[in-house]
Amino acid sequence: MKLRNSARNINRIIIHSTATPEGREVSVDDITRWHKNRGFSTIGYHYVIGLDGEIEVGRSVQDSGAHAKGYNRRSIGVVYVGGMNKTMSKAKDTRTELQDVALTNLIKSLLKLYPTATVHGHNEFSDKACPSFNVQEEYGFIWEPKETKDLLIKEEEENDEE
Ligand SMILES: [Zn+2]
Repeated sequence: MKLRNSARNINRIIIHSTATPEGREVSVDDITRWHKNRGFSTIGYHYVIGLDGEIEVGRSVQDSGAHAKGYNRRSIGVVYVGGMNKTMSKAKDTRTELQDVALTNLIKSLLKLYPTATVHGHNEFSDKACPSFNVQEEYGFIWEPKETKDLLIKEEEENDEE
């Protein structure tokens, strides 16, 4: 797929899970409905990766997302469908092989568009389990040895929807 370049000055790519049960498909429309119910203008994520690895566009990349409080203004939000076990009793890394391939390819493509951006899991910015795995360990091979630690200092407060 051809990715659109954002006019925003993107400095981070943040990975999420939908926090839904393993094996259950979730559509962009579903997430849009949930997020509207939470008072957002539309879906909070820019890209959604379905169980089959299909990458769908959510919110326009021109607009700030609503996915990581304090970090939305200059980031791209990516979510894979899953992240919880079947009974919803605990967080679980439920990435399918196709989702893993799609995440790898999407991260590579986004880093070509935004070469100075760094890539993170939501759990690096909050005490949530999301995305239920360690992004640095799983995908760090793509960007290493780029140093990311200094970039974790929180930006000034933003007027986030979330
Ligand atoms: Zn998240």
